[in-house]
Amino acid sequence: MAWEFETEPEFQAKLDWIKQFCDEKVEPLHHVFPHAVRSPDPAVKAYVRQLQQEVKDQGLWALFLDEDLGGPGFGQLKLALVNEVIGRYPAAPQLFGAAAPDTGNMEMLAAYGTEEQKERWLKPLLAQEMFSAYSMTEPQGGSDPNLFVTHAERDGDEWVINGEKWFTSAGRVADLLFVMCTNGMYVVPRTTPGVEIMPEPRNHNHIIYRDVRVPLDHLLGPEDGAKVLAQRRLGGGRIHHAMRTIAQCQLALDMMCERALTRRSHGQVIAEHQMVQDKIAESYVKLKMLRLLVLEAAWKIDRTSTQEARTEIAAVKFTMSRVLREISFDALHIHGSLGTTDLTPLQDMYAAAPHMGLADGPDEVHKATVARRILKSYRPHDGNFPREFRPYKEQAAREKMQPVLDANPELAKAAENYRRYFAGRRG
Ligand SMILES: Cc1cc2nc3c(=O)[nH]c(=O)nc-3n(C[C@H](O)[C@H](O)[C@H](O)COP(=O)(O)OP(=O)(O)OC[C@H]3O[C@@H](n4cnc5c(N)ncnc54)[C@H](O)[C@@H]3O)c2cc1C
Repeated sequence: MAWEFETEPEFQAKLDWIKQFCDEKVEPLHHVFPHAVRSPDPAVKAYVRQLQQEVKDQGLWALFLDEDLGGPGFGQLKLALVNEVIGRYPAAPQLFGAAAPDTGNMEMLAAYGTEEQKERWLKPLLAQEMFSAYSMTEPQGGSDPNLFVTHAERDGDEWVINGEKWFTSAGRVADLLFVMCTNGMYVVPRTTPGVEIMPEPRNHNHIIYRDVRVPLDHLLGPEDGAKVLAQRRLGGGRIHHAMRTIAQCQLALDMMCERALTRRSHGQVIAEHQMVQDKIAESYVKLKMLRLLVLEAAWKIDRTSTQEARTEIAAVKFTMSRVLREISFDALHIHGSLGTTDLTPLQDMYAAAPHMGLADGPDEVHKATVARRILKSYRPHDGNFPREFRPYKEQAAREKMQPVLDANPELAKAAENYRRYFAGRRG
């Protein structure tokens, strides 16, 4: 029997180290120097590097990558357990070299880049000497990649890109833009002439690519390979978001319970009110169910591949936004008026739920994926009645048992009595 719900002691020791490091160093950093990893201040930068060195010394840098690419090569299941810890602290993914959108772009580079491309872009991205963004969605629609029109035309020894992208997260501050074109995935330095970043939205940028020229070697992977690369990128990204969502849901539940035990109303702490208990119990179960779904998906990826675990990843993808929405809403509600302010993380958590339901594709598309893939293992029944139609079942059972009944007249008589009795009760 290989079923296990325990973490091996050596790895648990790593998780304990991560938790302590996050509590003692990462959380204070976040409050004193928000967005420290991107800070231009040399003193802040040096302190961030010092903390990152501690992570590297523990062999925990760039957790999502295999060993030969500079990461510890934990695999997805262990990565899930780590993300359950670091996902609680906004600054932690960057301090561990494991923050989106860079992770997905690095995965693409690691899997499809030439040695030269890896040297030029993967290494500095891994070292956070560069940052990147992923430019896929277009203003006319993001759910359906067949609507995308951004295109690269070959002109001598250059590609000329024309098109428009929408909601490129952190595009404004990226060194590199990974641009999905109808005929391939291209790496475009942000300062290339023709890259125009619109003033709005501020964080998820609207970018015009107007006659943007890049050398031929800025094509990543094969020509016309953009959809394959995008799937590879997004498959990993989706499950990583879900791993961190578990941490956010746990934080919301922790806050809910602490508040319920503290606040009083109508003569008792609110934890004594059954409708509050209902929220706590339901939130606990939703969190557990999400966690098991995520861990099983991660386990399956480790044993097969992202491609083979598509049903599980899609199921996780649409479940996480719902669970985050419901638990963060209940936690916020239990905090009363305080919950509606930005004086706790609850508003941000609740606002993140719709993000989770859209980023990397809307929930509906993932539900359709799950349903289509599940349906593949079924076939329609013949005639008007399903295979579980009781009269069919009984008929088949009688035929199967007939030799036993023939050999045992007492049993045959009892069977006939049963038949008569139950025939009179069916309705
Ligand atoms: C926080 C955040 C970060 C993001 N970061 C990036 C990024 O870095 N790079 C990038 O390229 N994009 C990014 N996106 C964009 C994201 O990929 C798109 O929002 C998503 O693919 C949906 O596209 P859309 O917004 O154009 O919605 P639309 O395609 O207009 O869809 C709108 C709605 O229509 C419905 N719908 C669409 N298709 C179907 C269907 N097949 N069945 C049923 N209903 C359907 C759904 O309700 C859907 O929400 C980000 C989005 C968010 C919210």
